[in-house]
Amino acid sequence: MSPELDARLRANYPLIFTAESISDPGYPDLPAMPSAFASWGFECGDGWFDLIDALCATLQNATANGGAPQVVATQVKEKFGVLRFYANGHNAVQEGMIELAEMISSRLCEVCGNRGRVIRDEWIRTRCPEHEQN
Ligand SMILES: [Zn+2]
Repeated sequence: MSPELDARLRANYPLIFTAESISDPGYPDLPAMPSAFASWGFECGDGWFDLIDALCATLQNATANGGAPQVVATQVKEKFGVLRFYANGHNAVQEGMIELAEMISSRLCEVCGNRGRVIRDEWIRTRCPEHEQN
């Protein structure tokens, strides 16, 4: 993702995209570690910026106004053509929000955000007709 869009998401959702070391709730005895997100940032194209932005707005709203827990992203990347948004702290409703965003990503070009489809050739990726070749 471009540095400008990366910075915008971090600025808008500082509690979701923290660079702080975080502990894994499944392993409370282990020390807090930097997450893959803290090390690598957003490992996907600019075309999914609005999708991630809308997801985070919804997640943060559920926390601020609905009493839901604070979600902390541990890794955000493209895998097999779709968005993978790994996070700690979500409840079942927030997990559903994340699953929906991941599903929608398989229909949005990762380069530009226009309607796209999953293409399976040497790489699996989601692209609009204009960006199928790259
Ligand atoms: Zn495109």
